Amino acid sequence: MHEAQFYTKLSDTQVRCDLCPHLCIISETRSGQCRVRSLHNGKLISNNYGRLSSIAIDPIEKKPLYHFYPGEHVFSIGSVGCNMHCKHCQNEQISQCIGIVPAQLNAYSVDQIVERIRSRGSRIVAFTYNEPIVSYEFMVDVAAALKGSAIECVMVTNGYIMPGPLGTLLPYISGFNVDLKAFSDQFYKKITGARLQPVIDTLEAVKAADSHLEITYLVIPGLNDDPEEFSNMTAYISRVFGRDQVLHLSRYFPSYQMSLPPTPLSTLQMLREIAVEQLDHVYTGNTGQEFDANTYCPACGALLIERKHYHTTIRGMVGNRCAACQQTINGKFNIA
Ligand code: SF4
Repeated sequence: MHEAQFYTKLSDTQVRCDLCPHLCIISETRSGQCRVRSLHNGKLISNNYGRLSSIAIDPIEKKPLYHFYPGEHVFSIGSVGCNMHCKHCQNEQISQCIGIVPAQLNAYSVDQIVERIRSRGSRIVAFTYNEPIVSYEFMVDVAAALKGSAIECVMVTNGYIMPGPLGTLLPYISGFNVDLKAFSDQFYKKITGARLQPVIDTLEAVKAADSHLEITYLVIPGLNDDPEEFSNMTAYISRVFGRDQVLHLSRYFPSYQMSLPPTPLSTLQMLREIAVEQLDHVYTGNTGQEFDANTYCPACGALLIERKHYHTTIRGMVGNRCAACQQTINGKFNIA
């Protein structure tokens, strides 16, 4: 059993988990909302420590990260559990532990995972699939073991974490894709069971730490596709993170507890047209079609990176600059 970090003992039989803003009160009979932190003999235990549901090699574009070493393949690992309960979750079996007991998953030590990463020759590791925040201790231990090597770590996350644990994590993670699920606290409360402001705080902390950040916004018809609210969000992103902040607009399909029809492609395009007024790099994804996936220079319009079905070709860049006009492009493009 691996003791969790970030908790406060309230009594001999109760603790408060301080990892994420739910601040769950946990007893022997009641585990945390994420379903993977529970109390044993007065200690908070991370039940999914080293328990992995998936290990795979993915194109980095699949995360999605488009401006972080494009074309690289990433050693991706995931466990189970999540601290949100999105009605439209596309990974509900592993996120909500449906029919899965963490202790029954294959167990890996940090050394075993690091050895696999090295033997595969991977230069990027992604903590992904389920919400990596609820695998905090294992993620940090793996990332710490890789610190100082040429291998970089990225995290695909909902951003729902307390500032203290995030601050400890930031030095280990070079790239983030954070889901911004809506620009409305009402949406967060009703659809995810969480709150908006802590996610905003995480985005701003990642930016302040100078880590690479890309934001994903899953567009759900009738729930978060209001043009005015969306325009307010892109204006906020542009103002706080800069015009060159990367934004991915993703198409929703019915899943888990949500049966609304898929997002019309016209809605995705309409929102993209709003976003590009404020932002230079807006991509659409999960569409099954080839559009809005390439990177163009915001200064001269030259094609910089071409993407087709996760096949990526650098066309017009030298280092992190446009080869035609020398404009600096936001991101990391040259792997050592
Ligand atoms: S990490 Fe899990 S147990 Fe801890 S506060 Fe968040 S949901 Fe609750």
